[in-house]
Amino acid sequence: MAGLNREWHAAHRMPEQATAEQRIAWHLAHAQHCRCRPIPAGVLELMQARGIVPPAKLSTER
Ligand SMILES: [Zn+2]
Repeated sequence: MAGLNREWHAAHRMPEQATAEQRIAWHLAHAQHCRCRPIPAGVLELMQARGIVPPAKLSTER
């Protein structure tokens, strides 16, 4: 699994000056493919402001 995550990160680089939409999209995809780190609080707020339910939150409520 670690190899897969590394490949995913290599293929999905976060832009240095990412917009809010880019950060949301990146972290949504990241939470589905890799969970090396949680979604930052600032990005969670951006998601909540748009009515997006963070997938990481759902998947950790087992
Ligand atoms: Zn990761």
